[in-house]
Amino acid sequence: MYREMFDKGIEWRAHAHSIRRLYGNWLALREQARAVPFSEFDPATLGPIADDMIVFRPTADGDMIYSHYGRALVERVGTDMTGRLSSRILETVGAFFRECNNRVLVTDEPLLTLHRSAIAGQVHLWERLVLPCRDASGEPVIVIIAKPRQFRDDLLAAVLDASLDAIVAVRLVRDDAGLPVDGEFVAVNQRAADWNGQTVEAMLQTPVLTLCPGLAESGLWTRFVDVALTRQPLQLVTRYACADADRWIEIACVPFGDGFMVTKADVTERKNAEDAMRQTQAEYAQANAALKAEIQRRQALEEELSQLATRDSLTGALNRRATTDGLRDALARSARYAHPVSVITMDLDHFKHINDRFGHAGGDAVLRRTVGLLTHGLREDVDLVGRFGGEEFVMVLPHVGVGEAVGVASRMRELLAGSPVEHEDGPIRFSGSFGIAAWDGRETMDRLLSRADAALYRAKAAGRNRVALDEGMGDIHVLETGGEAPLQPSADVPPFTPTTRQGTAPRRSRRATATAPRRP
Ligand code: GH3
Ligand code: MG
Ligand code: MG
Repeated sequence: MYREMFDKGIEWRAHAHSIRRLYGNWLALREQARAVPFSEFDPATLGPIADDMIVFRPTADGDMIYSHYGRALVERVGTDMTGRLSSRILETVGAFFRECNNRVLVTDEPLLTLHRSAIAGQVHLWERLVLPCRDASGEPVIVIIAKPRQFRDDLLAAVLDASLDAIVAVRLVRDDAGLPVDGEFVAVNQRAADWNGQTVEAMLQTPVLTLCPGLAESGLWTRFVDVALTRQPLQLVTRYACADADRWIEIACVPFGDGFMVTKADVTERKNAEDAMRQTQAEYAQANAALKAEIQRRQALEEELSQLATRDSLTGALNRRATTDGLRDALARSARYAHPVSVITMDLDHFKHINDRFGHAGGDAVLRRTVGLLTHGLREDVDLVGRFGGEEFVMVLPHVGVGEAVGVASRMRELLAGSPVEHEDGPIRFSGSFGIAAWDGRETMDRLLSRADAALYRAKAAGRNRVALDEGMGDIHVLETGGEAPLQPSADVPPFTPTTRQGTAPRRSRRATATAPRRP
């Protein structure tokens, strides 16, 4: 329970005029005599102020008895305490009263007290002046003036008016059949009055639908009445057309007695901020999408550029540079992890003759078909197929040893020889000669390629459409023969000229190719 006691500053702390006046009288009497006579404060002679007064007299057994309890107090508290014992007042408030009385009896000085009361329902805060007096026989008498300092209604009004929302409470007006036909404002705060361009008093005296005809037109009235009837609260945000600009209003309606209470808050600022945020988010998303598209476009462009830089445009095979780069990487990895790498070189047989007979376009078609067949026979993303020169190709097979490489080359030879290209002048049969070398783990890339070339040359020399293997130390064997190359030149067969070793003289004599050529 809230309570306070003051023995100083009473003259300026007291709010009630009657309390200040009586305190002044008491002080003047104390100037004259230590014992202030009760006769000066006897309710029987004081007139209307007696309605707010209480008189306590001590009993022989140390208790106190109410010898006077003012009419105004009887009304507020609902009980006449006259003749009752102070010890009978229970609860915290009784203890507080006894504490005040005892203190005044002991000190013989006045007290001003403040306390909140739950007993007198409509009063929020009481202020009391407690005065020590003496009766004619010198016995102590305690005189109290109790005035409500703050009523609950005042407090409620203050709370309502402090609100930034417009708040109204409405009681339904019903017809003879009990149907709601209108409403009556029972509480209106200042904000609500301002909103309607009225005074609070004017609103309280005007029927709801007369004051706000728009409520019925907009359908809101029916919804509010529903809240009162169904006891279900309602909350909504609606647009409100104003002279300057449209406003967004949040309305909350809750049941209240036989009616409802409505709070209206202007949420335009909040709504605008939310809209602006949504707009910004949408713009961000758009910018993001544009950025993503641009990144994809650039990636595609880069991809295209890298294709141009590494791929042969006719066949789609890797170009010479990309193939040697790839082989170099494969050898480096192989050195680190000690796994094998094999290289197969292949040169188409009598290609000049294909060009002669079927034209350059026919030759091109064979080149494209060749790359398709070679790629088909290899592992995606692991093996490499590169076009080294006109119709000479190099394949890099990481993790593949000699035995497996021979198998791969044999299958490829067979595939090429058995896959003629359709042409208007008849099918173009073609074949290739293959040379294989497996890396010995130490030699340079150029030497490895030269050994594969030497094997290829041997395959050519042995009649073409063949696979030959350089086993190292100049040991070259033609392993497999596909018989005669399907296409034989009509004129003299020109010698095979390997293109893997640019800038070196072509090896023409059998002797020169019997051993693997070494790079200077
Ligand atoms: P061999 O069996 O000894 O290899 O005989 P070959 O006729 O294939 O001889 P060589 O390797 O010397 O001839 C290669 C020919 O390939 C020479 C050139 O005209 C032709 N050529 C080079 N690049 C292209 C090309 O992109 N398209 C076409 N259609 N022909 C090409
Ligand atoms: Mg050739
Ligand atoms: Mg050639």
